[in-house]
Amino acid sequence: MSHKIFSDIKYLPKVGPILGNFLSQLVGGDRWIDLLYHLPISYRAKKYLPNIANIHDKDEIILKITPEEYIKPNKKTSPFKVLCFSDIGYIYLNFFKIYPNFIEKNLPIGKELSASGKIEKYNNNWTISHPEYILPFDKINQIPKNQLIYPLSARITQKLLTEKIHYILDLLPDFPEWLDKDLIFSKKWPSWTKAINNLHNFNQENFDPNNPNRKRLVFDELLAIKIAEKIYYNSNKNIKGYKNIGTNILTKKLFENLPFELTVGQKNVLTEIKEDLAGENQMFRLLQGDVGSGKTIIALFAALILAENKRQTALIVPISLLALQHFENLSKLTKDLGINVAILTSKNTKKQKEKILKNLKSGEIDLIIGTQALIYDDIIFQDLGLVIIDEQHRFGVMQRSKLVAKGKNPDILAMSATPIPRSLMIALYGDMKISLLMEKPKNRLPIKTQIMSKSKKEQIYDSLHNILDRNEKIYWVCPLVEDSEESELISLEERFKELENHFASEKIAILHGKMKEKEKEKIMADFSNPDGQTKLLLATTVIEVGVDVGDATVMVIENAENFGLAQLHQLRGRVGRSDKESFCILLYDYKLSKNGSKRLEIMKNSNDGFFIAEEDLKMRGFGELVGVRQSGLPEYKIADLDFDYDLLEIADSQSKSMLSNFAKNKENINNLLNIFGLKAVLTLLKG
Ligand code: ADP
Ligand code: MG
Repeated sequence: MSHKIFSDIKYLPKVGPILGNFLSQLVGGDRWIDLLYHLPISYRAKKYLPNIANIHDKDEIILKITPEEYIKPNKKTSPFKVLCFSDIGYIYLNFFKIYPNFIEKNLPIGKELSASGKIEKYNNNWTISHPEYILPFDKINQIPKNQLIYPLSARITQKLLTEKIHYILDLLPDFPEWLDKDLIFSKKWPSWTKAINNLHNFNQENFDPNNPNRKRLVFDELLAIKIAEKIYYNSNKNIKGYKNIGTNILTKKLFENLPFELTVGQKNVLTEIKEDLAGENQMFRLLQGDVGSGKTIIALFAALILAENKRQTALIVPISLLALQHFENLSKLTKDLGINVAILTSKNTKKQKEKILKNLKSGEIDLIIGTQALIYDDIIFQDLGLVIIDEQHRFGVMQRSKLVAKGKNPDILAMSATPIPRSLMIALYGDMKISLLMEKPKNRLPIKTQIMSKSKKEQIYDSLHNILDRNEKIYWVCPLVEDSEESELISLEERFKELENHFASEKIAILHGKMKEKEKEKIMADFSNPDGQTKLLLATTVIEVGVDVGDATVMVIENAENFGLAQLHQLRGRVGRSDKESFCILLYDYKLSKNGSKRLEIMKNSNDGFFIAEEDLKMRGFGELVGVRQSGLPEYKIADLDFDYDLLEIADSQSKSMLSNFAKNKENINNLLNIFGLKAVLTLLKG
């Protein structure tokens, strides 16, 4: 039987579906255990029994109080007030929404109590609105003196979150230790249960990222993912793969149809992939190629070899914009090859979807391009022989496993446009064979990068006119203001107004993540059409991933100092995709920090993604965290490769030894995978 901590958040006492939804969104998971991996980021010290001389407006305090009088609200919107006597004189406790009898029960007149909360001067009276704690005075020590601060979101308060977390902590089971005893001993790590408990109780040391509690949990996470990754591609290890030996009929036709010559790098990679596909072992290959190096066409060749074997290929991409672009390009290239290419995203109509489901099942579709919609349970292939994952780091191991499980031991080709340093690549992807695509197509000129202050914008507008006169196109990426989508929109609209003063407004289009998918597609389609109206695309970073518009030659990035190197490189890679000279303008706002300016200089001086990646890693080692999340490395619940890089290789070797004796470690593996929501990969072992 599954332990309670794996139940759905909505079944937590006093939670339910609505609040449960808010909680899940906040913590990025829908089980009780996921709340425990939502760690505090700081703490606030409360003043304990202060006197009138040392309190200030908005202090957090713990007080002794005695209720003296109830003041009922005279209208619905005013609070119920309780006048209390305390060491700092008379104060009001205000309650806006209360259950019947709440006051009488918890704040009886004349009883000595303890209370905590934020004290504020309101109409010249000290007031605490909705005290955090109200307890009998002899229980005052139960009020935490240091309040841990958790990241919050709409509807969720510190108090609520703390309460739920502690409720779950009380139920924590003591799992048998799954880590190697010697490792635990040498690292001085606590048990899993202790580590989690420690992190949710105040201790100054917990705010050092290298504290043993956090490190232990991070190691668990890296280990769980390593195990899942190994199960994912090692599934059915004893069953040999299918030998996909090409007939060359389709690939030869594609060669003839290609509007360009493959680069030497592309040809080499293609040879490697051909051999893998023809071999009897399952292919498990990562194609690491810099942006614009031409990975998509490789994917198509691989799919054609499968089609020559009458087998199906699924190409999964992170966003539907990209799915559509691939679909259009590849449909064109395969027009007279007699193969059936289809697209599936969550935006298909019900009728379209039904048809696709039918044709996938009957084997009529040779190549399906889609988003996560491809992994749903109702998608059944006749014979899925090849899974291609574009922008591989955007997908978790669970998502990849689900797609792979739809085939019998299918070959796997992962593609990534984010060059990462060699050392990290081995630690992260050591299980895969790696193909590197270092060169860009011959006709490409290096992108010229300039660094400019935002104050010089007028100058830029002038030069952009020349670009538009040449019938070339422009991307303008707007600053990311904090994390708020609203402010993102505001900055887009502001910029639009400014641009309108310089360029005909029908030439400008806005693109952002909150738009309807259909709308985005329409805008992208117009922008990528040589005869389209849109010449300047004002966008947020939604354009970052994989978008390919050949005649776009200028990329302007506002507040470039706020982006990480890897992301800047990705964004810049949207231009320089044809034989035309391209430019990237990095705009910075007012003052540049030392690291900010160093990053921009690196961008200016290099177009080499691998070099930039090395520099990125070096710089982030100095503790600058901006842009890490967008850096193209896999996303973890709590691990952060800036601090935890040292654990990757150990996790890799531990995962190997645990799996090498699966029968003995079954319970441990099961527990560990379950904690990180990865248990379903175990089903891959049976098939
Ligand atoms: P990425 O590796 O970033 O996914 P794409 O596959 O989108 O790059 O390719 C970028 C562009 O380069 C596409 O328009 C593609 O058609 C074109 N391309 C690919 N290979 C070559 C080549 N050998 N010569 C010229 N253009 C190419
Ligand atoms: Mg791509």
